Amino acid sequence: MAVYHGPKCKLCRREGVRLYLKGERCYTQKCAMETRGYPPGEHGQSRRRRETPYGVQLREKQKTRRIYGVLERQFHNYYQKASRRQGVTGEILLQLLETRFDNVIFRLGMAASRAAARQLVSHRHFHINGRVVDIPSCQLRPGDVISVVAGSQKVAAIRETFENRRRTEDQPWLDIDEKEMTGKVLQVPTREQIPAPVQEQLIVELYSK
Ligand code: SF4
Repeated sequence: MAVYHGPKCKLCRREGVRLYLKGERCYTQKCAMETRGYPPGEHGQSRRRRETPYGVQLREKQKTRRIYGVLERQFHNYYQKASRRQGVTGEILLQLLETRFDNVIFRLGMAASRAAARQLVSHRHFHINGRVVDIPSCQLRPGDVISVVAGSQKVAAIRETFENRRRTEDQPWLDIDEKEMTGKVLQVPTREQIPAPVQEQLIVELYSK
């Protein structure tokens, strides 16, 4: 499983927005976007870029890729899959990303970030419909039930994150059972239910050139 291991805050600074890649720290004053909200690099503070239409589309694609922690080839595969389906390609692309197993764990509040969710999944801490699944990119469908493996319910990274999760960010397309520490996918999220700050049509324009 190929993942990006470089500095995460640098990605937010490059995109000029908070991508929430580091968990709790992202919600504090320590966030690098508060302290160094300019692009990384020697000329980050002085350089002014004039973005071309291509540049704007490229940045939108990179931002989306980075939010979901997906590398280029895999992201392009998602686009191709979305473009083969009937409907609005940009929306389907986001739906595919949103229903990834690691993203659902993050949305359920069982991990502080998608990167943490990815690690917990590959360490076999979660079930889908009663079976251990250790593939973070696994695509979930309506009706799927996610639960924590019996021995893993005491793992601090899961329990504390779940108990302290931001309830304001509960997702209407997911049903959370706090007592049992389980979640159920009720439906594929609509675009309005996906809180990703991206303009997906720019990604479609970029790839359809
Ligand atoms: Fe991005 Fe701020 Fe989180 Fe760093 S702390 S990953 S800059 S949102």
